[in-house]
Amino acid sequence: MKRLVVVSNRVADPRKAAAGGLAVALGDALSDSGGLWFGWSGQMIEPERGTESRLQQQRAGNVTLATIDLTQADHDAYYLGYSNGVLWPVFHNRLDLADFDHGDINSYRRVNRLFAQHLATLLRPDDVIWIHDYHLIPLAAELRALGCEQRIGFFLHTPLPSAVVMAAIPQHEWLMRSLFAYDLIGLQTQTDLGHFAHYVRNEARAEQRENDVFTAFGRTVRAQAFPIGIDVDEFIRLGEGREAQTTYANMRDQFASKRLLVGVDRLDYSKGLPQRLRAFQRLLHDYPENRGRAVLIQVAAPSRESVSAYSDLRHELEGLSGAINGEFGELDWMPVRYINRSMARKRLPGLYRASSVALVTPLCDGMNLVAKEFVAAQDPANPGVLILSRFAGAAEQMTEALLVNPHDQLVVAEATQRALNMPLAERQARHASLLEGIRRDDVHAWRKQFLQTLESKDV
Ligand code: UDP
Repeated sequence: MKRLVVVSNRVADPRKAAAGGLAVALGDALSDSGGLWFGWSGQMIEPERGTESRLQQQRAGNVTLATIDLTQADHDAYYLGYSNGVLWPVFHNRLDLADFDHGDINSYRRVNRLFAQHLATLLRPDDVIWIHDYHLIPLAAELRALGCEQRIGFFLHTPLPSAVVMAAIPQHEWLMRSLFAYDLIGLQTQTDLGHFAHYVRNEARAEQRENDVFTAFGRTVRAQAFPIGIDVDEFIRLGEGREAQTTYANMRDQFASKRLLVGVDRLDYSKGLPQRLRAFQRLLHDYPENRGRAVLIQVAAPSRESVSAYSDLRHELEGLSGAINGEFGELDWMPVRYINRSMARKRLPGLYRASSVALVTPLCDGMNLVAKEFVAAQDPANPGVLILSRFAGAAEQMTEALLVNPHDQLVVAEATQRALNMPLAERQARHASLLEGIRRDDVHAWRKQFLQTLESKDV
């Protein structure tokens, strides 16, 4: 068996429960092959140590975790400036939030080169390399420049925008050209794959051989959709744990006479949180029978707080939740519980299971794993209802959810009312199909399909 090398911006110890389903799935593959996981340590180089980043390695079972520190300047330019100030907003269709002036593509490239220089010293000729996400698009090209000839695959966890939006990025040709250094490009959805195909055919005059093989810039690459899943069994086990059970019991006691709606997101403008709160306000306005009864628990976990678009959003949400509580709240009922802290993963299954409805209404999302976790956490005999944005990657698979346009408050309010009143038999039928789907397309199937394609299909 070939050794697997995973590269991502951050590295997680796959043995820790907090690591989440992706780390567990990658951890399995890494353990099987005695693999290596490489990335940024999350630490800055102390200024007195100069600017030289040293490679650190530690063992986690039979997996090697290898990391480097970054200088503060490199971190700010590569991570905050370019990855999260340019690529994240553009890839989520928010050109209005992209900071093209400060997002410095040269620093992004320089840090990718630094990653390549350190990683190259650890590679063996027959390794299979799997690089993850928008922070590291040019990494394969940098590795190739150092003479690496191994099979290299890339998976983009975010959406890939349409060709016109992509073309708004200065040097978008360079970015897309660097994708052709890979052997396999994995995208979340057929929609993303369509965007890729359209871009490379029109902007790069790529030739499309077979359905998913493209030749341009003198190289041939395979691009396919591999929708990511969760580890359903791991999540169900988490739900049986003490923290989840206690959370569930507390919620049921505390909200015995109420109907809970839940939203769990990073506080990110792609998640449609202000729109969701306004839709809930609309529900209370248009369907007054929910007053005194419906409670929306919105967990908004802090994220990338040093990017200014995120602090503006936090203020907006604080204002909105206060306004809804002020308008509708009673002494014994507050409609919105807004929690601007992250919730431990171990507690989430309990929160999901106690809720009648999940509002998963991003304006744009690569996949959205919360939608899948909510389904996994339900009691099949009495399941809650998933309301899902049609702009989440998950909507391509989870068609038995109530699919909504998250921009349309009226439609989201109507769907919420329908969910709150959905007959048991319909809830069970929808949940059963959704559960079957997330089980079939779980994170292990995703990982196996990607790696099999990378290793076996020579383009
Ligand atoms: N999550 C968590 N605690 C929180 C909020 C989110 O553990 O307070 C987890 C959630 O369970 C899910 C992940 O973070 O596994 C979010 O993944 P998703 O695909 O929904 O969105 P992303 O944050 O990757 O955009």
